Amino acid sequence: MQQKFDLVLPFQLDSSAIRGRLVRLDEELWKIIKQHNYPARVNEYLAQAVALSIALANCFKFDGLFTVQISGSGPLRLMVVDINNQQDVRACARFDEQALSNLSEAEAKNIQQVFGQGTMVFTIDPAVGEDRYQGVVELTGTTLAESTHHFFRQSEQLETGVVLAGCKASEGLAGAALMIQRLPLPQNLVIEEKEELDDQWIHALSLTGSVSRKELLDKNLSNEDLLYRLFWEGGVRVHESQPVKAQCRCSQEKIKDMLTTFSDADRHEMVFEDKITVTCEFCGVGYSFTEEEL
Ligand SMILES: [Zn+2]
Repeated sequence: MQQKFDLVLPFQLDSSAIRGRLVRLDEELWKIIKQHNYPARVNEYLAQAVALSIALANCFKFDGLFTVQISGSGPLRLMVVDINNQQDVRACARFDEQALSNLSEAEAKNIQQVFGQGTMVFTIDPAVGEDRYQGVVELTGTTLAESTHHFFRQSEQLETGVVLAGCKASEGLAGAALMIQRLPLPQNLVIEEKEELDDQWIHALSLTGSVSRKELLDKNLSNEDLLYRLFWEGGVRVHESQPVKAQCRCSQEKIKDMLTTFSDADRHEMVFEDKITVTCEFCGVGYSFTEEEL
């Protein structure tokens, strides 16, 4: 039987040059959320950022690591999600818990209040060969989705529409993303054809925008039914889904390598009760070493 959630489902709208990705996350994202024990307000944004990262990573063809980093001057000052081409994803955040809980309900819905002035940075680190790609966008509008739209507009990438949903309580799915992208128009279109494609795109954007948070996170609504409910009119075709896994990539070896980049004197400063202990910020696993081991 095909997996129902914790996957990314590529799809295509029939008879138009529009493709999309539906990401719906359950157990795997709950695993990440439980590892951290962050406040609910952080979890909601973390879930959105994870779903967004998976949707984007699935669109960019790359062999290596894709990272989304959101940082700013606000109470939620840093959020990092990374995902490799095996679709192993991990995420963490840094925040001021008190300042975050001081925000009103309305303020907590506004990224300008939550993250403050800041940026969202998309990085692709290729495994070998090719150059590193980095795209930066200022946090714009009130949601992460709006900032993402802004990124695609300013970076001359494909026109893109995205809706994100993140958990509030441990019921329903943990997070979801619905994204559509307009493929490049063929050359030598006559004006009527171009107008028709423009209309189709605007229509698809409004359908995408009409999806509710409740629908995106509803465990009883299948991925296919969700897409059909939105796009039945013009027809929608789904491709093979790809599973996503919560998986950190830290190891004794990697942490050791990292620590050996410090000078002996700096390392000596880190010693506590005869050991240097490092806790992975992504997954919370601790590693300890004696100075001699390093
Ligand atoms: Zn880890």
